[in-house]
Amino acid sequence: MERIEHWIGGVSTAGTSGRVGPVFNPATGEQIAEVALAGADEVGRAVSVAAAAAAAWRTASLSKRSAVLFKFRELLAERSGDLAAIITREHGKVLADAAGEIARGLENAEFATGIPHLMKGSFSEQVSTGVDVYSIRQPLGVVAGITPFNFPAMVPLWMCATAIAAGNAFVLKPSEKDPSASLFLARLWQEAGLPDGVFTVVHGDKEAVDAILTHPAIAAVSFVGSTPIAKYIYETGTAHGKRVQALGGAKNHMVVLPDADVESAADAAVSAGYGSAGERCMAISVVVAVGEVAQSLVDAIAARLPKLRVGDGTDPASEMGPLVTSAHRDRVLSYIARGESEGASVVADGRDASDLPEKGFFLGVTLLDHVTPAMDVYRDEIFGPVLGVVRVETYAEAVALINANEYGNGTAIFTRDGGAARQFQFDVDAGMVGVNVPIPVPVAYYSFGGWKASLFGDTHMYGPDGIHFFTRTKVVTSRWPDPGTSSVDLGFPRNH
Ligand code: NAD
Repeated sequence: MERIEHWIGGVSTAGTSGRVGPVFNPATGEQIAEVALAGADEVGRAVSVAAAAAAAWRTASLSKRSAVLFKFRELLAERSGDLAAIITREHGKVLADAAGEIARGLENAEFATGIPHLMKGSFSEQVSTGVDVYSIRQPLGVVAGITPFNFPAMVPLWMCATAIAAGNAFVLKPSEKDPSASLFLARLWQEAGLPDGVFTVVHGDKEAVDAILTHPAIAAVSFVGSTPIAKYIYETGTAHGKRVQALGGAKNHMVVLPDADVESAADAAVSAGYGSAGERCMAISVVVAVGEVAQSLVDAIAARLPKLRVGDGTDPASEMGPLVTSAHRDRVLSYIARGESEGASVVADGRDASDLPEKGFFLGVTLLDHVTPAMDVYRDEIFGPVLGVVRVETYAEAVALINANEYGNGTAIFTRDGGAARQFQFDVDAGMVGVNVPIPVPVAYYSFGGWKASLFGDTHMYGPDGIHFFTRTKVVTSRWPDPGTSSVDLGFPRNH
């Protein structure tokens, strides 16, 4: 059985806790590896190595850091095929989708190559006679990232590219369900010339996470995962004096107004609802059909579903792979049954799919119509290939529905009316909004983050907010006095 180890000080390091977790290939259902699960001692050792590396790395010039980022970006682009294969093997998503997540992660490395510009402070000359004031940004030291299973390369890249470029040492605790992508990134960093210890991988579960959240030498924790865990991470990390950003779950609504182009809206709903088997935090899980568009939209979505090819992600013909574990598939199955018993109409039923591969954690696609806000299938994040349609009469009802929802990650509106779209952008309580774009993940030079229960903390991830999160500012007030004018003055400093 393959053994997946930690990466500490630039070398693969065997686990010593005696605990391991299983890693599956979701397309075959077979266990393919076991991953070491770190205890507090191992986290402590990794953090000591990272702390020593951080002290040296912050002295590296901006040009040197930028050069490492450029090289890392080149290597990642060159080897993206190998990384995609690793992701598909442990996560199950189709290869094209794995390549897509790498491309979006790569953007963060590209953004971070501009670190000399991004670290610029400000300067005010002559704030008082002969006195200047300037601000500088400095790294925090050792920072940690705790990441979810659904983007085993992109989410770590959201965090580590900016954190490292800013001069920190980064300790990653990836999802124990698909841990190998993190080690691939570790080797690329090393090959790119990053000093050992600046990028560390510690595998594990709650025990390792708790050790990170309470370790006194870790200055900041960046987290992405489900909402209950995000809340726990935020509360525990901040209680231990850390800066924390914790991105949580989602329930993303796509509003379709009566004037929308029904065929493009249906294409978008199917792509964003079932891509990656619905295991995306920006997946559309609720279509809000306004007025008379509802029936034609449901028909158009339903007409597309029999054509979707569900299968092994390594087969280029597959459009959707399996779910990540059998337990997760069972959970999604239970939601389909619950939706039906709650009174939703099952227009397409993933349980009936007869042409699915026999082995592996596959599930067909489900479309539920006449979903209401009182149903669990509406309220809960299902994180599977289940799309619900809520029918409302007016634009105002659609916005009220979204704004009353617990989550506020992404949302989208489909319309031909620019005024309606602009009003939606103004009215809606969500962190990321698409106008005729179903998955509005911001490009790397903006920042990613939701509102409400989709994010705990005040900075969004990557982009300008990422630089802000992984640095702290220092303001310097400076005078180079002429000794001839020096005198004692016990008054509070005033500007002259
Ligand atoms: P998860 O919350 O189960 O796990 C995320 C991380 O937390 C993993 O590293 C895991 O090991 C750790 N963890 C799990 N249980 C823990 C516990 N009890 N105590 C401490 N740490 C624990 O999430 P997941 O199932 O890996 O990922 C899917 C979830 O992530 C979905 O809810 C999805 O919406 C969310 N997500 C959100 C975003 C976003 O940007 N908002 C992006 C991707 C995924």
